[in-house]
Amino acid sequence: MSDRLHTLSGYLYEYQKSVAQPEEFWARIADSFHWRKRWSSVLKWNFEKPDVKWFLNAKLNITENIFERNLYTIGDRPAIIWEPNEPGEATRTLTYRELFVEVCRFSNALKSKGIKKGDRVIIYMPMVPEAAVAMLACARIGAIHSVVFAGFSSSSLADRIIDCEAKAILTSDGNYRGSKKIGVKSVVDEALEKSSVETVIVYKRTGQETNMVSGRDFWWHEVLAGQSEIHQAEEMDSEDMLFILYTSGSTGKPKGVVHTIGGYMVYTKYSFDNVFQYSQGDVYWCTADIGWVTGHSYIVYGPLLAGATTLMFEGVPTYPSPGRFWEVIEKHQVNVFYTAPTAIRALQAFGTAPIQGKDLSSLKVLGSVGEPINEEAWHWYHNHIGQGRCPIVDTWWQTETGGIMISPLAGITPTKPAYATLPLPGVQLCIVDAEGNELTGNSVEGNLCIKFPWPSMIRTTYGDHERCKQTYFSTYKNMYFTGDGVKRDHDGYYRILGRVDDVINVSGHRMGTAEVENAINEHPKVIESAVVGYPHEVKGQGIYAYVICDMTNRTEDNLINEIKDAVSKIIGPIAKPDKIQIVPGLPKTRSGKIMRRILRKVAEGSLDSLGDTSTLLDPEVVEKIIAGRK
Ligand code: ATP
Ligand code: MG
Repeated sequence: MSDRLHTLSGYLYEYQKSVAQPEEFWARIADSFHWRKRWSSVLKWNFEKPDVKWFLNAKLNITENIFERNLYTIGDRPAIIWEPNEPGEATRTLTYRELFVEVCRFSNALKSKGIKKGDRVIIYMPMVPEAAVAMLACARIGAIHSVVFAGFSSSSLADRIIDCEAKAILTSDGNYRGSKKIGVKSVVDEALEKSSVETVIVYKRTGQETNMVSGRDFWWHEVLAGQSEIHQAEEMDSEDMLFILYTSGSTGKPKGVVHTIGGYMVYTKYSFDNVFQYSQGDVYWCTADIGWVTGHSYIVYGPLLAGATTLMFEGVPTYPSPGRFWEVIEKHQVNVFYTAPTAIRALQAFGTAPIQGKDLSSLKVLGSVGEPINEEAWHWYHNHIGQGRCPIVDTWWQTETGGIMISPLAGITPTKPAYATLPLPGVQLCIVDAEGNELTGNSVEGNLCIKFPWPSMIRTTYGDHERCKQTYFSTYKNMYFTGDGVKRDHDGYYRILGRVDDVINVSGHRMGTAEVENAINEHPKVIESAVVGYPHEVKGQGIYAYVICDMTNRTEDNLINEIKDAVSKIIGPIAKPDKIQIVPGLPKTRSGKIMRRILRKVAEGSLDSLGDTSTLLDPEVVEKIIAGRK
């Protein structure tokens, strides 16, 4: 394959080419896809409006690039392996040919319900193969999908239905999650009291009693019955919308990020192949939910465009025991495993007993995404899961970037714990100071921007282009602003320091939350921590740390002192937390990210202005933290 990088020098060479001649570079990558009509020009862009278009006037259907393009060669290969919540339930495997049949039949089913090109369709489903079928069928008929994580409340769901003016919802009767059976359709019904759609299609997963509204609600298997296995894919423009996805809401009200077809297709496959160094026949497992961008780009589109075998897991990491992930790896002989620091830290807290006796020898590559991974978790992941032999790819990216932007290429780029290392070809990073001046050279830190378009970038925020402009393109002229702080070290390696809004300024010294948390987490009794700044009379800002600890055989006072000492030693006395509160849990988004903005409000004492908490996983934890405030 011509677009495959194999060596560090090869990467460096391609990177240079991608900067010197971006259009030629991406045209060459795009040439290996199936376009019904080739593009008239590769790129047109203006970051001020913003207006970015890739592969202009090209015609295609992304699902033809998954199926028709490859079917003769890989038709019998497993496309999706599904591992159910309950380990005793049978797994399911769909080959590319079988998945294609399902997608075609469901495409016909959607059309029979009057759903057509350009309509918005909400997918609110558990992690079953039908969720992927739903996404692909939308893409095949040209409907725009918006997947909403099936753990969201009815009001969050209603907000999204209203925001994207959805015509239909694809859902399920219920959902198994760990030991719980959860109603899903009932949440949809509640959401539809505040919003409306024409059609609801319900996949039967749990068989629980389900209310069906006549004329609006239909069973999946009934609409599917008798549908033809033949479906001619809709011809789409490269810049037609593929999906709308709401961000996870760590920093405020979620934004409806819009991705378009051509560029997203090219970039997700290219980045999947190269970051994970996927070899044909490998079993690849990304533990994200399809409700997040990671699930879109690296469970569904990227792997399937690459002809990979992608594992979908319905359950949770700790059910029926904290060894579940490792059992699944053994059972399916997983070769590439991609998860989030929040999961790694949670499983690390159980020690190594759950790993004992599990055969993890199939693993070749490990990945991390979602938050900065602290060094301690990195080493644990590397030593105990990767058994010291698997490279870790720490992949930095965002819903808005569509695909991985900064990451080692597995086994090629030398890694460094807590560093996302180097940008992928085509990604032109730029570090700027508060005034927007570019900081050149190495050993600098500042705000992370991207100064040139890449194919899978955000095109707009749905229904509110101005918000897209304000949020990403107005802070610094002619640059996409990521919102994250970053350091480029003496080797030119990138380390994400956390959100810029969270950067703490202690007596004029700027500190990233990730750096301080990294030091705190080095303490053997610390399970997880979150650090924020708060107003301090002398220093401007003081450091307030919320820490989850294993308290066995320890008193709070001696632990707090040990943690302070550890931070002083690792970073320096300037980073020593002024206040440390031992907490039972941390407020997280439903995708598992720590919501520091809420912790900041608590530390400041602004308890009545906590802001949008609709994406919070466990609101009760906030009450407990407030009660124990220092
Ligand atoms: P919102 O934009 O609504 O506040 P969000 O930023 O959490 O939500 P996502 O797009 O899911 O929504 O997350 C992207 C962010 O996650 C990045 O901007 C960064 O802060 C963080 N992130 C993702 N991967 C990494 C990584 N490997 N290292 C450090 N941070 C990461
Ligand atoms: Mg964000």
